[in-house]
Amino acid sequence: MLILSIIITSLATAALLLFSKTLSLREDINKLRHSLQEMDEQAKLIVRTDIELNKTQEELDKKVAGLYALQRISRAISTTLEDRQIFKMVEANHIEELGFEKTLVFLFDEKQNLFTPYMHINYSQDQLNAITAAINQDKTFYLDLIHSQKTVSSISLSGTEKIKEINRLFGSIYSILSPVLPKEGNRGFIFVGTEDADTTPNEGDAEFINILSNQISAALDNSRLFEKTWRSQQDLERKVEERTKELRNLLDEVKIISKRKTDFISSVSHELRTPLTSIKGYASILLAGKLGNVPDEIKERLEKINRHSDELTHMVNDLLDISRIESGKVAMKREPQDLNYIVKTVLDLLSVQFKEKEISTPVEIKPEATTVMADRSQLERVFINILGNALKFTPVKGKISVSAKKVDDFVQIDINDTGCGLPSGEQEKIFEEFYRVDNAINETVKGTGLGLALVKRIIEAHNGKIWAKGSPGVGSTFSFTLPQKI
Ligand code: ADP
Repeated sequence: MLILSIIITSLATAALLLFSKTLSLREDINKLRHSLQEMDEQAKLIVRTDIELNKTQEELDKKVAGLYALQRISRAISTTLEDRQIFKMVEANHIEELGFEKTLVFLFDEKQNLFTPYMHINYSQDQLNAITAAINQDKTFYLDLIHSQKTVSSISLSGTEKIKEINRLFGSIYSILSPVLPKEGNRGFIFVGTEDADTTPNEGDAEFINILSNQISAALDNSRLFEKTWRSQQDLERKVEERTKELRNLLDEVKIISKRKTDFISSVSHELRTPLTSIKGYASILLAGKLGNVPDEIKERLEKINRHSDELTHMVNDLLDISRIESGKVAMKREPQDLNYIVKTVLDLLSVQFKEKEISTPVEIKPEATTVMADRSQLERVFINILGNALKFTPVKGKISVSAKKVDDFVQIDINDTGCGLPSGEQEKIFEEFYRVDNAINETVKGTGLGLALVKRIIEAHNGKIWAKGSPGVGSTFSFTLPQKI
């Protein structure tokens, strides 16, 4: 009995133990199941995050590619200066890398009231014609788009009838339209779109296209500016050409008139010389008493006739020389001349007058400037005229200096005096024929106003230049150049 009760007790204890074990096992299983469920949730989360990450990465790659494309396009169009070429460049630089396989650009011609396509990618000619016709039939939206200066897209117009209509017209499921707004010329818009259902559009896409349309606008402005500059340059060149032609014609006319004048002076001088010679001849015969005794009063008149005909002959000869040198009829025998020698000869010739007026005549000819290529007698005439004038216009005890220096392949000769000087307005005029300065000395001193005109012709016939400087009361300097080589 005892044994039985022990067994029963043991069995009961074992059953109890088993029951409690079973209970804890079930609890464990429940815990395990729970943990497994949690792990499953986490795994799902990881997979979801991974997918999202991949998507973000893809979008990022797309954006980077788009940025590169944008940079490439903007670089290409910034070097292009012709409207159509700008759009060709956009096409050639793979605009589709911005993520849209379809592109269209329309510009609006206000005069014709018409939108014209400037670029199309992934559209057949028929499709393009149909789209152009549709846009021109209902321009309001596109003109408003230009005026608003804002980019619109499937996102900003989401849910509207308009975007559905646009998508239908352009054959896309996602569209962006951005105005092209150059400061001058035709404005318009760029359309980009895609039929790819996998595309996940976002606001950034519209921003990209906005940047692109701004760059196209800037390129169009540059092209306009270049065209303007080019046009005005062409205009200027044409004007210069016309003006040159006019001037050339005028110069030809001046040459003809000048030749006529020279010929006229030359023939008049010739005609004057013969009667002058006979007037002087008869006066001399009468003065010599060859035709009988001449009373003193008549002698006095005859002497005047003689003197005046001498002066007239001198004048006529000068005029004749001027016209002959001008027309190239006087051959200049250009040979090496020693300036020291020529200056000394002329100073000797005028030495009596210099002495009379107690005028000093220092000469300073630099060794490298002693030789010039010139016609001896013509060069002497130049010195006689200039030094003769200096003598006339320099008061007693004055100074007339002659100096010569080398300037490039020329010798510059300066003749300076301490005479009455030259007012600034007269310094060029005195080289014109018959021009004499209106001053007190000229009222008393005789002259024809031809000396310097002749000197100028002689110097220019030697390829030299002549000019005068000086101020009233201080003195004058006459300078001229002569070549050292032919
Ligand atoms: P002319 O001496 O016969 O009047 P020129 O042609 O030689 O003619 O000179 C023209 C004018 O230039 C002179 O009348 C004079 O007024 C001015 N002129 C020339 N040389 C001098 C000079 N050395 N000083 C001041 N005036 C001068």
